[in-house]
Amino acid sequence: MGRVFVAGSINMDVVATADRHPRVGETVAGREVLYFPGGKGANQAVAAARLGAKTTLIGRLGKDSFGAELRTFLGAQGIDLGAVRDADTHTGTAIITVAASDNTIVVIPGSNALVGADDVADVPLAKGDVAVSQFEIPLPTITAFFRRAREAGVVTLLNPAPAQKMSRELLALVDILVLNETELGFLAGSELSDSDEAARIIDVARKLQARADQTICITLGRRGVLALAGREEIAVPGRAVRAVDTTGAGDCFVGALAAQLADGAPLRAALAFANAAASISVQRMGAGPSMPTAAEVAAVLQ
Ligand code: ATP
Repeated sequence: MGRVFVAGSINMDVVATADRHPRVGETVAGREVLYFPGGKGANQAVAAARLGAKTTLIGRLGKDSFGAELRTFLGAQGIDLGAVRDADTHTGTAIITVAASDNTIVVIPGSNALVGADDVADVPLAKGDVAVSQFEIPLPTITAFFRRAREAGVVTLLNPAPAQKMSRELLALVDILVLNETELGFLAGSELSDSDEAARIIDVARKLQARADQTICITLGRRGVLALAGREEIAVPGRAVRAVDTTGAGDCFVGALAAQLADGAPLRAALAFANAAASISVQRMGAGPSMPTAAEVAAVLQ
């Protein structure tokens, strides 16, 4: 069984709830404040670890109380934190205000912006492992990480979210790209919406494909997932569930897919597993706490 290496962001999400949002310059009384471990890197590592994959997280935490709390939480999930170093700044933080079911979010990257090429230089990658990243750490770091991974014969999996333009070099280093239809449209320079037909989405994916053997997986929310694997097209329909909170569904999908591939599963089976795992996560509140175990996914897939 291979190992999952996730190079990515670790945040504390601070959520304030209130009856209404303040106007600029105004102060309103809130109801409560909640603290959730977050960041796409941490969420995806939690998903993989909870499913039983040996998981190493590569990232940076500030030397502050959020950093200490996050280290304790992630360690308790069984994640190897040997490559999570301290940074001389504050821990990545998202300040979220929720009022009348609308939210505003301010994300301060903090320590995540300091994850550098030196952080990925000496991680012990070996054939059979899976290297995972997202766009909440500097892109040159991801490029250095994937360059090393491919030299070691390790599968690279990129979740380019939040979407931003990337170099051809980075795109060509990716074995498996996992993104939603909006991100695909942005990167391919084509308008796509969630009502577009599968054939049109696959056409756009084909435009983006940087190598003949590259796999592009497009997550479509309740519609499931489509994949273009080389020239082969795979469709995994969404599972009919009652979704209560889709926060972190994409992260659950990515972590589950990486865990399956590290376990040696073929792509088609790994996609069906990840689709089932993510369909469980949307039936629970929160990101980290909603990630399922392998037994829960197996029960759904029977
Ligand atoms: P987020 O940013 O909220 O994590 P995303 O846009 O990255 O979401 P989605 O495509 O919404 O990712 O969801 C990822 C996967 O989660 C889907 O491919 C599907 O497997 C599962 N999923 C999401 N929403 C639902 C739903 N309502 N019912 C069943 N499965 C769902």
